[in-house]
Amino acid sequence: MAQVTLNRVRKTYPNGFEAVQPCSLEIPDGELVVLVGPSGCGKSTLLRMIAGLEDITDGELFIGKDVVNDKDPADRNIAMVFQNYALYPHMTVAKNMGYGLKNRGASKAEIETKVQEAARILNLGDYLDRRPSQLSGGQRQRVAMGRAIVRDPELFLFDEPLSNLDAKLRNQMRIEIRALQQRLGVTSVYVTHDQVEAMTMADRIIVLNAGRIEQIGTPTEIYEHPASTFVASFMGAPAMNILSAKIAGGQLHLDGATTLAIPAPAMAQDSVLVGFRPEDVRLGGDGSTVLEVQIIEELGANRLLHGQLGGQPFSVSISKEEQASVGPVTITLPAARVHFFHPERGTRV
Ligand code: ATP
Repeated sequence: MAQVTLNRVRKTYPNGFEAVQPCSLEIPDGELVVLVGPSGCGKSTLLRMIAGLEDITDGELFIGKDVVNDKDPADRNIAMVFQNYALYPHMTVAKNMGYGLKNRGASKAEIETKVQEAARILNLGDYLDRRPSQLSGGQRQRVAMGRAIVRDPELFLFDEPLSNLDAKLRNQMRIEIRALQQRLGVTSVYVTHDQVEAMTMADRIIVLNAGRIEQIGTPTEIYEHPASTFVASFMGAPAMNILSAKIAGGQLHLDGATTLAIPAPAMAQDSVLVGFRPEDVRLGGDGSTVLEVQIIEELGANRLLHGQLGGQPFSVSISKEEQASVGPVTITLPAARVHFFHPERGTRV
């Protein structure tokens, strides 16, 4: 297994576009790191540089103690799992899983042992003679995992491996992949645009925005202390409410007449962005804060109230035992769980 270190790794494409700005990070041995961000933020580019499928423009990439910038993908001792599985359609499951080993010159006996072991781990024992077209999406993804496992890599790289699966299977497979990764203890980098996958699978999350690392932290750190409005609104569904408020006389005033029952932070600006997670807001209170509910979304386990607070969009998540109806509803904002951000830069203050 290996530690992975990026030292100011940067990517500029031949057309001059800087897809990844200088990026430094350390992934300790055995950790699963998730690269997450919206489409085009540079996560695949970063992963492909680690894989050796894309040249590194500047900076150094270490796998273990070695700088691997100039090493071919085949010499990096990594295994990659792709979104489209990349299985050979004319080969059986067993042949697909053993193909990489065969190419490396492994003996028939070794291939057989490793494929059997991987099939046992992945519950694929009954399918070894089938072709990929005779498997479900989840089973195909397991074969792709099997092919990665048999190579005993130092590093797993996952590029949106679950995107082609339906929601239920995605939930099941993410638990399987995480359990497997923990059991094997292989250092892993996992790319997704799905914040739920990032939250549930990662030891640490790296949030990327326009080719730049916006924040690195454990799922809890990222959720509880987002470094910017970008992270705050990207991680969490429904997204954090972010209100634009004026500061006057130590109080927070929304555009319009509403005053928030939360003390203003001490800062140089006369305005601030104020964030509340929808699940941190409570119904009821002294009547000083009133949400004008416009839409109620029933989610089964809970319900979401969407409306306006002082003329700005605002959502509250309530439990299924609580009742609410369209129209004015008194709410209490959580003073202990408020987030403040810089009005222009969007950074946490
Ligand atoms: P997605 O989730 O849509 O796959 P991503 O975060 O993985 O997005 P990348 O594929 O890494 O994003 O692309 C990052 C940026 O680099 C995008 O703006 C993309 O248009 C640009 N880009 C990717 N490949 C090239 C290329 N060969 N030449 C120029 N620009 C490129």
